[in-house]
Amino acid sequence: MTFLPGPAAVGLRCLRCGTHVDLHARVYLCAVCGTSADGVDPGVLDVGYDPHRAAAAVARHRAEEHPFVRWSGLLPVVPSTDLPFCGNTPLMALPRLARRLEIGTLLVKDETRNPTRCLKDRATTIAASVARQIGAASTYCASAGNAAISLAGYSAHAGLPCHVFVPAEASPVRLEWLRRSGANLHVSQGGYDDAFEEAEAFGVSAGSYSRNCAYNPFLVEGKKTVALEIGEQLNFRAPDIVAAPVGDGCTLGAIGKGFRELRVLGLTRGIPRLIGAQARGISPIAARFRGEDPAVAAAGRTSAASIAVRRPRNALRVLNEVRESGGAVLPLTEEAIASAQALLAGEAGLVCELTSAAAMAAIQELATIEDLSSRTVILVLTGGRPA
Ligand SMILES: *Cc1c(COP(=O)(O)O)cnc(C)c1O
Ligand SMILES: [Zn+2]
Repeated sequence: MTFLPGPAAVGLRCLRCGTHVDLHARVYLCAVCGTSADGVDPGVLDVGYDPHRAAAAVARHRAEEHPFVRWSGLLPVVPSTDLPFCGNTPLMALPRLARRLEIGTLLVKDETRNPTRCLKDRATTIAASVARQIGAASTYCASAGNAAISLAGYSAHAGLPCHVFVPAEASPVRLEWLRRSGANLHVSQGGYDDAFEEAEAFGVSAGSYSRNCAYNPFLVEGKKTVALEIGEQLNFRAPDIVAAPVGDGCTLGAIGKGFRELRVLGLTRGIPRLIGAQARGISPIAARFRGEDPAVAAAGRTSAASIAVRRPRNALRVLNEVRESGGAVLPLTEEAIASAQALLAGEAGLVCELTSAAAMAAIQELATIEDLSSRTVILVLTGGRPA
């Protein structure tokens, strides 16, 4: 088996210093910037595509059922289609909530329909595809739970050993799923940021394949497919606003990239404003967006476990995308997040985790400060695991 690059992928560029890097199976951070000893932003790489080849590949595959085949022109690798099927999730209208919040059209992109109930499966599809192509001995990731459960599930399906690094406070429910799927479980003494470092140290020493999204540049490309699908589902009219929760920044950064690429390919005309949701207690990216000190904003706590990231690794990416889109990153209180979760259940029948409800809370806050009565707003419901 050998690495199969996507038909239009041309190479990578560092988001921090601009250095160009050739496309390889196992390319992680920029060698110049590295993990950033200065403690600011690591040298995260970004995949580039030849727009003509990408457009041709997208046109050639547009009738394919599997979203990763349909959009292979905008992916760094040829994906495996015999993994758990992810994507093609519904985009549903929430008319009662829209009326209540005076929003023109409110739609939910329901990522809880993915195999492990989370948008994370889109990144894992890419990681598992490459790990198999290159014959990696194992896969690994650091995670508050969702990425780990996703990787454990896909690795189990593919027959690959898997190592997951989770914070000390990971929920017992999540740990139980990890045990069931046969993952090698490494529980850190510290939080997510400590688990991340322990995972990377393991990855280097064991030659394992990384499913850390801010580190392995191919994974954001998988997450990006959620935006490409929203574009298709709206008949290639870009929505006005897309809201999603922000932890490391990979998910919303990927969504921004996806919409920009639809425009580059001439499939859509505009791009949506991106609204990022952080929990006020741990909101370093919201602070940087406003020019405030991220360390101060990251010193608190939150029950929104999947975005409890104190040292985000893809901050540059998401800040660039949000600014380019004319959007914002909002810090939400614990009360606002909990009440948004109840609202989604009570008014729309949607079961989601607290982290995902933060994006709904952000839309509610936006609706109080501007008139959304003629806007099309998309809520990306990133995950549905109750605890
Ligand atoms: C991981 C995760 C996020 C945040 O994604 P980042 O890429 O870390 O910004 C949001 N929602 C859920 C459910 C997640 O699991
Ligand atoms: Zn660099």
